[in-house]
Amino acid sequence: MSRITSEELRKRRREFQEEAGRAFDQMLGSDGQNGLVTFEQREDRACEVGDALTRRLLEEHLAADDAADPGVEVACPICGGPVRCDSPEKVEMENRELLTRRGKVEYERAARRCKRCRRIFFPRRRAIGGGARGV
Ligand SMILES: [Zn+2]
Repeated sequence: MSRITSEELRKRRREFQEEAGRAFDQMLGSDGQNGLVTFEQREDRACEVGDALTRRLLEEHLAADDAADPGVEVACPICGGPVRCDSPEKVEMENRELLTRRGKVEYERAARRCKRCRRIFFPRRRAIGGGARGV
């Protein structure tokens, strides 16, 4: 199973299209001009609403990543050893922020703790032995 079902993907696509429609309205308004007169005003508005859509796309992609909520066993990024979590569904998701070229994006990740390294980390790769799942 993929983290996101095709039905969920279609739903998110519709929501994105609605947001893109609102971005269009913020630019063009109901009269095709929306009070924007100078080139600078037009450029500022286009960049602002375009950047918001870019951030939304990034957030959607990060949310659909398998690493967001990995399975029972993952590899520690420091020692490479297996880190086991018997109840991954009970691990609370933590909010993460990232500053991108288009502003701040937010996403969620489930943390794991390596007992050998005594470090908390956020898995980036697929679970060990998890490659065959969902195929
Ligand atoms: Zn480790």
